Amino acid sequence: MGILEVSGVNKRFGGLQALGDVNLSVEEKSVHAIIGPNGAGKSTLLNCLVGKLIPDSGSVMFDGQSVLGRKPHEINQMGISRVFQTPEIFGDLTVLENMLIPVFAKRDGAFRMHAIESVPHEKDVIARAEEMLAEVKMLEKSGMTASSLSRGDKRRLEMAMCLVQEPKLLLLDEPTAGMARADTENTIQLLKDIRTERGITMAIIEHDMNVVFSLADRITVLAQGTPLVEDIPDNIKGHPKVREAYLGE
Ligand code: ADP
Ligand code: MG
Repeated sequence: MGILEVSGVNKRFGGLQALGDVNLSVEEKSVHAIIGPNGAGKSTLLNCLVGKLIPDSGSVMFDGQSVLGRKPHEINQMGISRVFQTPEIFGDLTVLENMLIPVFAKRDGAFRMHAIESVPHEKDVIARAEEMLAEVKMLEKSGMTASSLSRGDKRRLEMAMCLVQEPKLLLLDEPTAGMARADTENTIQLLKDIRTERGITMAIIEHDMNVVFSLADRITVLAQGTPLVEDIPDNIKGHPKVREAYLGE
């Protein structure tokens, strides 16, 4: 049994079958990549895992419990944190303030803006946030306004905002989307470091096959809403079905 078990998940949008009978098992402490061409259903699947979408049928079990019917913040409290395709940070707040939001959200189930006023008293939380910022090499920027950060730094901040929750499962939706090559390399290295240092379970969604080959333990290839193959990276590279799925682009 994996820490995440998806079985027989279906999701339609009107006449479009976005997910058809998806099965996925993510082993604890592994990095599992879900790759596939644009429109394959990767984001839809992820949205079904975090409670943003409800599958029409099938089951999603995390850590032995069903996530279906739970609200996103409840699923977050169960131990799933997600990095979005576009950074979701609070531009008017400082880097450090941004880090505290997910901590309060997990602890209290919701974040209320006035909680920021209590921040100076939250010494333990601040220490944890600063430790995490140091880990992603952002500590010296903790007083900066988040909106003034570079794109790559926004992504690092967002990653740190997830990790500070100490999730059991980290979900990443195209973490390198729109990034220049150098930022992509940095992000991959950051994910490798996180993995080595924290032994965290990750499910990473990617459009670009090359990005995940050096990172993933296992890869599931999704095409037109259905898993085509699931295997170790070496067996995915030259797989005829995979080449076919990508050639259609
Ligand atoms: P991917 O992330 O793999 O690029 P998506 O999961 O975003 O793919 O989309 C899968 C398919 O479902 C696409 O054809 C997309 O247009 C469609 N789709 C996604 N979200 C919606 C929605 N909210 N309403 C209608 N169609 C959607
Ligand atoms: Mg997507």
